[in-house]
Amino acid sequence: VTLSTEDLIQMEHKFSAHNYHPISVVFAKAKDVEVWDPEGSKYLDFLSAYSAVNQGHGNQKIIDALIEQAQRLTLSSRAFHNDKFPVFAKMLTSMFGYEMMLPMNTGAEGVETSIKLARKWAYEKKGISKDEAVVISCCGCFHGRTMAAISMSCDNEATRGFGPLLGGQAKVDFGDASALEKLLQEKGDKVAAFLFEPIQGEAGVVMPPDGYLKKVRQLCTKYNVLMIADEIQTGIARTGRLLACDWEDVRPDVVILGKALGAGVLPVSAVLADADIMLCIRPGEHGRSDKMGQEFREQLRGIQKDYPNLIKEVRGRGLLNAVVLNQADLGNATAYDVCMGLKNRGILAKPTHGNIIRLSPPLTIKREQVAQASKALREVFEFD
Ligand code: PLP
Repeated sequence: VTLSTEDLIQMEHKFSAHNYHPISVVFAKAKDVEVWDPEGSKYLDFLSAYSAVNQGHGNQKIIDALIEQAQRLTLSSRAFHNDKFPVFAKMLTSMFGYEMMLPMNTGAEGVETSIKLARKWAYEKKGISKDEAVVISCCGCFHGRTMAAISMSCDNEATRGFGPLLGGQAKVDFGDASALEKLLQEKGDKVAAFLFEPIQGEAGVVMPPDGYLKKVRQLCTKYNVLMIADEIQTGIARTGRLLACDWEDVRPDVVILGKALGAGVLPVSAVLADADIMLCIRPGEHGRSDKMGQEFREQLRGIQKDYPNLIKEVRGRGLLNAVVLNQADLGNATAYDVCMGLKNRGILAKPTHGNIIRLSPPLTIKREQVAQASKALREVFEFD
């Protein structure tokens, strides 16, 4: 029996925890930017699994390598060596310019690992007294769903009912370098690290003011604090640079990668750092997404011009973009309704925070497909 979209959604609702609120589309097949549901309706994917499929769904080179490897060897465990991991570690570190890497599976694990690494470094290298190390994070951040990752968040929805949270953390407003400096002045000698996203993805593609990353770098150096960039969503060419931190030519002490590192076929994450930090733990398509993103934002701003009451802001970098809706003028409608209108026109995007629509297609997207999404959004405002 082939199950319909409705059958599958009902089945999921019955047998799986209600920890998510998806758009009502069932992916049954996908290739590059295109997705098909069980009934054969076709959509353009404007989320790309939160950047996990930057390379496009079912990228042939990646699938071929996956099949070839699966037929030869799937797992050695790290109790032994294997003939692929060292080559991968060498390639990744040279590509991103760090001396060493530590592999994990999910992004959240990468974040956990970076916090452990920062604490160990703080005790061994910075000389912070036992159990007193603090990690500073930003309000509005999203670093994953594990206990340590939610402890970094100021979002009540993420943390409510899950306490007690991890100790040794402090929060500061994102994009506010003076607030960070004040906090570091107060307790810099106890601070192990500043953990941040260069652009806050889940918060709705929130961009810091120009110069913020440079200032953060200066402050972290001044107060001997590790600068940890969570580039899980922004890294690997999403914003038009290999790393989003490259926009300000800033080199963090620790970089966390995930999502596109596994290209949507395997969960792969990694923490990158130089040896003096990493050894505390013992036993792009450059430019393409930048250009296409500029074109896309221009089209979206054209729509904003025609519907200034409905669209408050169009923002983003590369192909990580958001349309912020003006809640007051939407009446009872929400970003979710706009996403449903887009879905009915074959475009898949996901709302965040009630009034923000994130638009982040695979980086392989074609000019016509970008135009198709802009046209669909215009129609939603025109007709719905
Ligand atoms: N950090 C950022 C910036 C993310 O966007 C995400 C996921 O969306 C994560 C961490 C968590 O990654 P994962 O879902 O692989 O645990």
